[in-house]
Amino acid sequence: MHDKTPNNAAEELTRLRVDSDTLDIDAGGSLTIDGVAADTLLREFGSPLYVISETTLRRNIRDVFRAFGSRWPQPVNVMYAIKANNNLAVRAIVHAEGGGGDCFGAGELHATFLAGADPALIAMNGSLKSEQEIGAAFDRGVTINIDAEDEIDKIAAAARTRGVRARVNLRLKVTNDAFRTVGSDYFGVSEAEGLHDRMVASKWGFSLDAAAALVRRMAGMPELHHAGFSWHVGRFSNHPEPIGILYRTLGEMVVALHARTGYWPEILDIGGGIPRRREPESRSGALNPLDLDGFAGIVCSALLRALETAGRPIPALWMEPGRYIIGNAGVLLATVGTVKRDLGHVWVNLDASTNQLMRIETSGSHYHVLPATGMRRPYEEEASVVGVTCIPSVFAASRQLPILAPGDAVAMLDTGMYSETASTQFNGLPRPATVLVNQGTAELIKLRETVEDVFRLHRIPDRLRSAG
Ligand SMILES: *Cc1c(COP(=O)(O)O)cnc(C)c1O
Repeated sequence: MHDKTPNNAAEELTRLRVDSDTLDIDAGGSLTIDGVAADTLLREFGSPLYVISETTLRRNIRDVFRAFGSRWPQPVNVMYAIKANNNLAVRAIVHAEGGGGDCFGAGELHATFLAGADPALIAMNGSLKSEQEIGAAFDRGVTINIDAEDEIDKIAAAARTRGVRARVNLRLKVTNDAFRTVGSDYFGVSEAEGLHDRMVASKWGFSLDAAAALVRRMAGMPELHHAGFSWHVGRFSNHPEPIGILYRTLGEMVVALHARTGYWPEILDIGGGIPRRREPESRSGALNPLDLDGFAGIVCSALLRALETAGRPIPALWMEPGRYIIGNAGVLLATVGTVKRDLGHVWVNLDASTNQLMRIETSGSHYHVLPATGMRRPYEEEASVVGVTCIPSVFAASRQLPILAPGDAVAMLDTGMYSETASTQFNGLPRPATVLVNQGTAELIKLRETVEDVFRLHRIPDRLRSAG
């Protein structure tokens, strides 16, 4: 907070860099990502362009395994939440690193196995799962995280038809009166409003009473192997204390369920939401003081302390991180098309749009925007960096930048998560290509859409076709 104002992007990057980044600056003053210069990538693969650093991705997965594996006395299964970025090459790298997967629905299950997956390490989530989806989960042999009462019957029926037992977790809902006065930067909830009522009102999971009834019911069903509990609340807070209360409450709920039903889990799946130092979703450019090890320390000690009171074996820890694993591995590159100056304002207009970073429009996310071909040029003016679409499409409002000109490259950091998977074709814009960079090499991992692709699935009924 007391950092001196940076004079150029190189100084800003020094302040922003985190351990697993591969962001650097070459002799010509261009930003490099995993050893490849931004302008080289744009020349070779076109603009705008999503870029993924393989080195950062691998470091992040290993870091999560290490941070939790070193603190948890039982096996840890890091299941990548594929919704964060469903590129098949990303999934293949996760699998190569020993990571499992979390998927929502048949589409993500399909993608998970298309790129390589061990069924023992995969879980399917969802508040509504169709019979077809449950069937697909059986055929792949993955664990199903139950989140509806009638889902139990659907799963049991599928198990009888196939003559195999289903492995299931039951999703819990965690609430605590302490959250009446706890707010969240991520959910945009003030301390006065408090998170409690929102947590109760969320569609996810079962409360203690509801879960106890379902645990007893499942105990009488030979078709089901009830492996444990699942839970996910997302990126909850950047303050240690409420995080500690949250995970302690989860542990206490497992113990209370044991007291009521005699059931004890083999697996506890704690979902995703690992905080990061640089977090667009915090709606601020400030670094989060809480890092991975700080978070893992709070989570593991709060959970273990609560679970140990039951005097039963500690369950295996499953987790479903999305944003942490892929977030800072991604950079969105774009090219300055025109610069307008009027009424004391400067608008740097890029060939990209917030179509490619939808979290700006839906959640007010704040991205760091760097002049990728002028990292050492002095900051000289405040400018707004905007996109091509008919909405304001503001990537960054009133940021310090060097004087930019058409042809300059601009980089948005931390775009690996919820960018490509949430992107749109608004204004008839084709979606960008994606490139995987790795220690100086670059490979295309998703083709650029064409305008023909955008309209490929449209049909004009014959009666509406104009003659000639
Ligand atoms: C979204 C989601 C995740 C991933 O969350 P991150 O915040 O990206 O880590 C994991 N599990 C479930 C059930 C989810 O809905």
